[in-house]
Amino acid sequence: MSKKKNKLPFLFQSLKGKKIKYSKAEELVINGLKPLIGGEWEGKIKKVSSVLRKDRDDLRFNLKEKLIKIQGEYCIYCGLHKDHCGVLEREHIAPKGSKLYPEFVFEEENLCLACHECNFYLKGEEDTISKYSKNYRSNKFTIVHPYLNDFFSHIEFAVKDGKAIIRKKPWSRKGKKTISLFELDSTENTTKRSGLLIANEWIFKDKYDKMFEKALNEKYLKT
Ligand SMILES: [Zn+2]
Repeated sequence: MSKKKNKLPFLFQSLKGKKIKYSKAEELVINGLKPLIGGEWEGKIKKVSSVLRKDRDDLRFNLKEKLIKIQGEYCIYCGLHKDHCGVLEREHIAPKGSKLYPEFVFEEENLCLACHECNFYLKGEEDTISKYSKNYRSNKFTIVHPYLNDFFSHIEFAVKDGKAIIRKKPWSRKGKKTISLFELDSTENTTKRSGLLIANEWIFKDKYDKMFEKALNEKYLKT
């Protein structure tokens, strides 16, 4: 049973309503690591904690499989399948650095998968929160949040003159920021998506049609 045939070369998606689930044992590990003040994600375990390093490392390792189940093997930011963007990494939407948001390091909705280019080179330690709240969902984010926002409410995607183009919704600051941070409209990325589209069209045309149709219905693309 191969799923390969239906594999899209790229996918822009929202993870709204989806969420990884920790087992009871994993919850114990996370609670045992508290307070989360930085450095709990990897490396040494604090002396005061009774958590075993192996258990914490297993938890971190298992996250990847859990995330693949809800988002597939696509970078959440550039949308490319790992075949086209390389190995996917566990990414913290609000960065986990000790001077940033270590308290959200194991927060289910703060975790997703992204390629090395997006995660490391483009996003890095970018502070994605503009207004902080210790209640994760109440934070104000600067980028389109994979779990809290609908991607297509902020960003439009369509094919025009053979090019797989991407644009912000005219009113969306988050769309603008996301596109510029991840260089989604760069010539390189547009060319890459367009090439993948042409190379694979016969396989996934129907699946993308819906996405295109939605975007093509937008006023500015009608002209
Ligand atoms: Zn990416």
